[in-house]
Amino acid sequence: MSASRVLAAVACVAIAGARAEGPGSEAGTDRPLFEFPYTPSLDVTAMDRGANPCVDFYAYSCGGWMRKNPIPPDQPSWSVYGKLTNENLRFLWGILEEAARTTPTRTPTQQKIGDLFGSCMDEAAAERLGATPLDPFFKAIESVKSREKLAPVIAQLHLAIGLRNSTMFAVDSGQDFADSTQMIAILYAGGLGLPDRDHYLKQDPKSKEIRSKYVAHLRQVFGLLGDAENVAKQNASAIFRIEMSLAKASLTRVERRDPYKVYHKMSRLKLQKLMPSFDWSAYFAGIGRSDADTVNVTQPRFFEQWQRVLRRESLDNLRTYLRWQVTRSEAPYLSKNFVDADFEFYGRTLQGVQQIRPRWKRCVSLVDYLLGEALGQEFVERTFPPEMKRRTLEMAQQVEKAMEEDIRRLGWMDPETKRQALEKLHSIVNKVGYPDRWRDYSAVEILWDDFIGNLTRATAFEKKRRLAKIGKPVDRGEWNMTPPTVNAYYDPQFNDINFPAGVLQPPLYDPKLDDAPNYGNTGSTIGHELTHGFDDQGRQFDAHGNLRDWWTKRDAEEFKKRAACISDQYAQYVVLDDIHINSKLTLGEDIADLGGTILAWMAWKAATANQSLQSIDGLTPEQRFFVGYAQWACENDRPENLRLRAITDPHSPAKYRVNGLVVNIPEFQEAFSCKAGQPMVSQRRCRVW
Ligand SMILES: [Zn+2]
Repeated sequence: MSASRVLAAVACVAIAGARAEGPGSEAGTDRPLFEFPYTPSLDVTAMDRGANPCVDFYAYSCGGWMRKNPIPPDQPSWSVYGKLTNENLRFLWGILEEAARTTPTRTPTQQKIGDLFGSCMDEAAAERLGATPLDPFFKAIESVKSREKLAPVIAQLHLAIGLRNSTMFAVDSGQDFADSTQMIAILYAGGLGLPDRDHYLKQDPKSKEIRSKYVAHLRQVFGLLGDAENVAKQNASAIFRIEMSLAKASLTRVERRDPYKVYHKMSRLKLQKLMPSFDWSAYFAGIGRSDADTVNVTQPRFFEQWQRVLRRESLDNLRTYLRWQVTRSEAPYLSKNFVDADFEFYGRTLQGVQQIRPRWKRCVSLVDYLLGEALGQEFVERTFPPEMKRRTLEMAQQVEKAMEEDIRRLGWMDPETKRQALEKLHSIVNKVGYPDRWRDYSAVEILWDDFIGNLTRATAFEKKRRLAKIGKPVDRGEWNMTPPTVNAYYDPQFNDINFPAGVLQPPLYDPKLDDAPNYGNTGSTIGHELTHGFDDQGRQFDAHGNLRDWWTKRDAEEFKKRAACISDQYAQYVVLDDIHINSKLTLGEDIADLGGTILAWMAWKAATANQSLQSIDGLTPEQRFFVGYAQWACENDRPENLRLRAITDPHSPAKYRVNGLVVNIPEFQEAFSCKAGQPMVSQRRCRVW
């Protein structure tokens, strides 16, 4: 699901780790969950009342939580979101164990999710197979006798494993930036084994250490595949050289946030000229889309680089590179020696994780990933009452109303830009809980005793489903996250905000508690996603989701000035050691955090204008709003993972998502009687929305 859209739809929090994406097991919780434990959305025991809220509001709100919640050994980090994700996984585990039992009443949907899960859990079968599931891929790769014959094999790999990996590059369908009603083919850069181009190019000692461990990992994997030590060594250096060339020609994450830098629509003829040694007609025929004649080549320079690599490297080296990419993608599903080697590098070295996630967790995550709307249907039936949907929609409308008022009142924006901003705001679609129409998986064959076959078929089904959209009308009902996901997102081309059922539960949304923490927490999340439509990236798209500049020149300058205030502020914050926040990468999220909470505050004040609100647990309603906000973000993180996230994550670390925000809000300072000069009172308050 990552990197599948030109601009990744903007999620509210980072999903921890590319491989270790699911959350962890705490002692005694390694069994299915049938009823969710209750944690309130404002938990006074998670606070540290000894901390001064005007000095460090994050410590004041989350100090207790951080002490009571050490990072489980199978997790890169541990957070309120992570913990809830873990509970959802345990709940899904119960659903899947039941569905895996062959009973006469089992529905076709339960057969698919149950048997995919059951076949994945069969560790003995994986052991017996060893590396043999790779054989058909390796045979195809060995059949390539000239560079010109590479394309059909790449197409085959993209269908079979292309959801989890980008061998050479990646392909997908997506909306045309210039016309959001059109679905076109999109080619992405990719092809790297490390998480980011920066991992290849940074010169600090830690980055060098990671590179040398990566090369050692490559050597080890080729050893497992049966190569002699000297061959494995040669293979590793060829792969590293190829990937290094690709990294040098790849855009940075900051550059990729600029839609104009990743929009290069061209004909297939032009694409063929860009990379002539690759048979693009054979490639498009191979993925079943010969008719796709227009392509957005997001990074032309990257494909030009491939042309050079294709000319420079021997066919042997190119085949070795492909064997690596296939092995990398399949390793987590092979026998234990591959699984462990994969974990040692991608889990332990890159994220600091101490032990691999138990198999049930990896298998539940996989079913969620491959058949997410089938499993999600079962989840929603059991957990998400219609009342919840109604309440969330109501809150979303209140926050949107607050934004309307906010835009009307803005002193720095001309009436014409305001008119367009309001048009965009009114066009935003609110999607809550789950899709109106469920995805139909009836074409995917799932067998109880064929895990690798299931994996390949389900992957190909999803890849083909996505590619089938090219040339078809856009389906605006679609979701990019599955219902149990504990996250939310805004999509600039759909111009919609999306809140899966998984994120609308305690301790995030809490129907038992008063309004203040609920507006502080879920209200701010709604405001956050809404503000993404108007952050430095989202503001470049109009009400219809088209990339179009609807700003007057003066207003655009005013916006940039305000955004720069935030960017300058966050650049000061240290992640760890001498690593500062890359605040040009996190700018959209930082703007959304601040705007979202201001809007939630306005919505809460309007909703409770006629009520007399009481203090609870020694906290005034205003204080409860802010502690409620902060407590979504309580988190513990490992240094390795912080280092990784500083490169790859567009979100600031949790502490600054709280402290960096409240310093800009006068209502916060009033609520806690903070004085000028205290750390939680900014000398130079930033505000965009
Ligand atoms: Zn966000």
